[in-house]
Amino acid sequence: MPGAPVHDAVTVAAVSFVNGVYWHIQPHEHVAAALWFTGTFLFAGYACAGDLDTNSREYRAWGPLRVIWWPYRVLVPHRSWISHGMISGGLIRALYLVAAISVAVVVAVWGIDLLGQHFGPGTVTAGLWRHTAAAVRDHSISALAGFAGFMTAGALHTLTDLVGSAVKPSRGRQRRRRSTT
Ligand SMILES: [Zn+2]
Repeated sequence: MPGAPVHDAVTVAAVSFVNGVYWHIQPHEHVAAALWFTGTFLFAGYACAGDLDTNSREYRAWGPLRVIWWPYRVLVPHRSWISHGMISGGLIRALYLVAAISVAVVVAVWGIDLLGQHFGPGTVTAGLWRHTAAAVRDHSISALAGFAGFMTAGALHTLTDLVGSAVKPSRGRQRRRRSTT
């Protein structure tokens, strides 16, 4: 399995290539969408791809916030379809992240309420959801590009793992062959 430096190098090379092609042909005027794609691609490639299912550099990159990925790391078998599926991997991580952020917001709002700042946690939470949904609706192309970047980086991670696994045994065979001659 390729290590974190290989995954990072592949992520940077891929996003540089995609950006090079994009800015060369400029198929549309949505610069924000291109930036969203690049941002979520780098974020997912560096800190939110398949290896969150183990104690990896990706997992540790979250620092103290890695606590939100602890259930994922413990429950998801390493390199299973849940974390390393081409589509299911990214989709499940995106849903997991949205759920984790939602829980954190709800806990924070209710916690502040319990500390005596009564501003109606139900109303605040519902308002946040409404604003987020409206922002996604108003900037649907950027939102779609951001989602595509996140998903593509996850798929590229899995592809790199597959290529790495395919190359490694043949290297081992070559070494054994050399040592017997
Ligand atoms: Zn992996």
